Amino acid sequence: MKLMMSVNAGSSSLKYQLIEMPEANAIAKGQVERKGLKDSEFELEDNKGNEVTKTLDIKDHAQAVELLFKHLLEANVIDNFDEIAGVGHRVVAGGEIYSNSVLIDEEVVRVIHDDLGKFAPLHNPAQAVVMKSFLKRLPNVPQVAVFDTAFHSTMPEVNYLYSLPYEYYEEYGARRYGFHGTSHKYISRRTSEILGKPMDELKIITAHLGNGASLTAVENGKVVDTSLGFTPLVGVTMGTRTGDIDVSLVAYLMEEMDLSMDEMMNILNNKSGLLGISGVSSDMREVMEAREEGNHRAALAYDIFINRIQKYIGNYVATMNGVDAIVFTAGIGENSPEVRQDVIDGVTFFGAQVDPELNDTRAEAIISPEGAPVAVLNVPTNEEVEIAREVVKFVDVE
Ligand code: AMP
Repeated sequence: MKLMMSVNAGSSSLKYQLIEMPEANAIAKGQVERKGLKDSEFELEDNKGNEVTKTLDIKDHAQAVELLFKHLLEANVIDNFDEIAGVGHRVVAGGEIYSNSVLIDEEVVRVIHDDLGKFAPLHNPAQAVVMKSFLKRLPNVPQVAVFDTAFHSTMPEVNYLYSLPYEYYEEYGARRYGFHGTSHKYISRRTSEILGKPMDELKIITAHLGNGASLTAVENGKVVDTSLGFTPLVGVTMGTRTGDIDVSLVAYLMEEMDLSMDEMMNILNNKSGLLGISGVSSDMREVMEAREEGNHRAALAYDIFINRIQKYIGNYVATMNGVDAIVFTAGIGENSPEVRQDVIDGVTFFGAQVDPELNDTRAEAIISPEGAPVAVLNVPTNEEVEIAREVVKFVDVE
C-alpha cells in the first residue's frame, strides 16, 4: 500500500486528496479557494473526523501549495513528506502532444505552460505553476501529469475533425479535443465492473452533467466521440455556456450589438446556458426551484438542457450503431433522479428505461429495470481516484 496525492488546480482554486493505493482509500482531502483575495479559504479534512478551516490571505498558487504542506504536517495527516509515494496533477489540455499520462520534469512543465497554455488559458498555466511548486517541495517523488484530453485521444479523425480547410488542422491544431476525460474514463470503467462485462464488449454513453457538461461515446473501451470540442463551449447546454450554436449567429450578434470578440466570448462562456435562458441562475437546483414556482424561462432552461442531452444520446447511439449502457455522473447527473428520469423518458425507442424506485438514489447503482436491453446507471464520479490510478502506473505500490 502506498500514499498518492491527487492535485486538481483550477484558475482560482487548488483541490487535493491523499489516497491509499491500490485500495483507493482517501485519508485526507481539502481545498484552497479564491486566492489573491483577502478571504481565501483553506480546508483540510481527514478520515478520522479532524477538520481544519481557515480564512487567510493567500496571494497565489505557490503560496497555496506551501500552506497545504505545512498543514498536512501540523494536522498529523503525514509525519514527513517521504510518506507520499507519488503525485498526480490534473491538466486540462494535453493537445495532440500527450495522449497518455506522463512523468513530469521541467520540460513537461514548460510544454504544458508555453505550448499548450493557449488551449486552456485559465487552467494550464496555473496547473504548471502548481507543478513547479510541487517539484520544488517533493524533488524525489514521481509526479505525473494526467490530461483531461487523454481519454479522448482515441477518437477517429472522422469525429475529431471539423469541416474546415484541412490545413487549419495541420497548422493550428484546429480540431475537437474534448474535456472531462478523467471523469468519463472513471465512470465507463466502473460501468464495466458493475455490469461484470469487459470494456471491449460494451458500447457506453457517459453523461457528465455538472456546471460544465459533456457526453461521450465509448466503444470497446475507446472514446469514439465526445460533445465538447476545441474548447469546452460546445455540445449540450451548460450552466453558463451555450453548447452548440450557429457561428454565423455569433457574427451577426457581434455586428448588431457592436461587440468585440472578447465581449462576445464572455457572453457565450459566462452569460449563456441555464443562466442566460432562465435569467435566474446557472445553478440547476435554483433553476429547478424557480421552475417549480411557475417561472416560464426557468422551465424552458430545464427543458432545453434535457432536450440537448437527448439529442446527443441519439447521436451517439447512431455513432456506435447501438448502445449497452447509459451512465450519469457529476453534480446534476449524480444528484437529480428527476433529470435522469426526464432524459431517459425521451429516448425509450431503443429500450432505455428507468425504474423510479431504483432511480431514487444518489449512490452508485443500476437504475434501469432488471433485464432491460439497455442498462442505465448512476455512478458518482471520482476523478481523484482515477488520477491516483494513473500515478500507480509509474510507482510500484506493492
Ligand atoms: P458540478 O459542476 O459537478 O459540481 O455540478 C454543479 C451542478 O450540480 C450545479 O448546477 C448544481 O445545482 C447541480 N446540483 C447539485 N445537486 C443537485 C440536485 N440535487 N439536483 C439538481 N442539480 C443539482
